[in-house]
Amino acid sequence: MRILFSICCIFISLLSFGQAPHLKGTIYLDIPKGLVTCEFKFTNTSMKDSYTVLLNSGFNLKYFKKDDTVLSTITKDNSGLKEYDLYLREGDSVALKSIEGVSIFYTGAFPTYTTDSVTSDDMGVIAIKNNILRATVQSVFIPELVDRITKKHITSYTYDIVVNCSRKETVYLNGSAPQTGKVLHLVNTSPLDFLIYAGNYNIQHHDNLYLLNTNLEKQYIDVLAKTTEQISRYYSKNIGIAYDANVVFPQIFSIGPKNQYVKWAFTVTPTIVMDVNELNTKIDLKSKAISDPNTFRIIAHEMAHKYFMQQLNAIGTRNLWRFYHETLAEYLALKAVENLLSETIYQEQLTKYIFTEKNKKSIFPTFDEIEKSEKDLTNASYNYYPLFIIGFEKMFGIDNTFKLLRQLVLDKDQFTFDTAYFKKRILKIGISEQDFEKYQVAYLNSPNCNIQF
Ligand SMILES: [Zn+2]
Repeated sequence: MRILFSICCIFISLLSFGQAPHLKGTIYLDIPKGLVTCEFKFTNTSMKDSYTVLLNSGFNLKYFKKDDTVLSTITKDNSGLKEYDLYLREGDSVALKSIEGVSIFYTGAFPTYTTDSVTSDDMGVIAIKNNILRATVQSVFIPELVDRITKKHITSYTYDIVVNCSRKETVYLNGSAPQTGKVLHLVNTSPLDFLIYAGNYNIQHHDNLYLLNTNLEKQYIDVLAKTTEQISRYYSKNIGIAYDANVVFPQIFSIGPKNQYVKWAFTVTPTIVMDVNELNTKIDLKSKAISDPNTFRIIAHEMAHKYFMQQLNAIGTRNLWRFYHETLAEYLALKAVENLLSETIYQEQLTKYIFTEKNKKSIFPTFDEIEKSEKDLTNASYNYYPLFIIGFEKMFGIDNTFKLLRQLVLDKDQFTFDTAYFKKRILKIGISEQDFEKYQVAYLNSPNCNIQF
């Protein structure tokens, strides 16, 4: 998915940190030829839940194995992906109970490009251009587990992966620092969604900031590093939960037609893939700050997904993930604008994006109607639903608002696919039933709460 000059976000798994499955194995890469082969073993998976396995349809399966036994599989199409049902023996009517200790081996060949093409590109594409391979969790480059009963998708793994390259490459996997060489060992101990950015490119590095395949001058990098540090400090301090991640910016590229994605960006937390090279036009070296408030807000929004997407994770919901991921991240980004840029710019952004004439005249699904709504709520999740949180702040103050955001993250393991999770956290931080009802009437149940402002 993509949003022009805005943000692109993803569906990821619902898993608490302790329970995340672990993937150990090898990725063989021949980037010039577009060849990818993967061999993984699943461990630390839930023993009580049974899963099917999803894979990008460009991959061919060699086998699933349990110990030395090759498993029998039934393959289905699932929204353009291959979905495998695993059985211990051919003819079994009951699927394999647990994926624990199961190995998978698969291989695929992908087109390589040196120029713009007519093919479409998005986060779900395994793209290779000018000797750089880019793939995200949405492409299902590494296997995704789907719980047979709850239909929850598990995409976040800890990993211990050797990347074996046909020649010296630089390889970045989400969650570990980029490395250069022919045989690379990458380890990540906190579960994250998958992203790979690999090939022949340079790394620019400053403290916790990594820029991949970029050519920014040092003074711009210094400003970017300072800005991301300020934002992470602001979030850590106010939410009270550490922002303990590198911020990695690979340069975006597209295999699509020229200019198809002029302002395209996407995130797989904590990686922000965007047009990094053009930041030299968005940074003012005199004031040593990002001078373009939109760019600042986009970076702050993407960084906020560390909490509202990576930690509080609402995949499996039909629409509510937009609120739990996008709206809450956008609210945090607006607060970063207000506090780290200026109150004036914050007010300008509210006027420009949120309090628009169009929004004032629209009817929006109420909070309880979001999940089942047939409307496209993509834009509303950025430019209308943040009013639920801004309204909360108006009624109960900024301290209570951060308390609520913190509670939402802290209780993530109790997250249910509904609106009650949000409402219960409001009561949990000490808002009375009566005040909550007032808030509910004014905001959550309103078809347009713009009238409150
Ligand atoms: Zn987002």
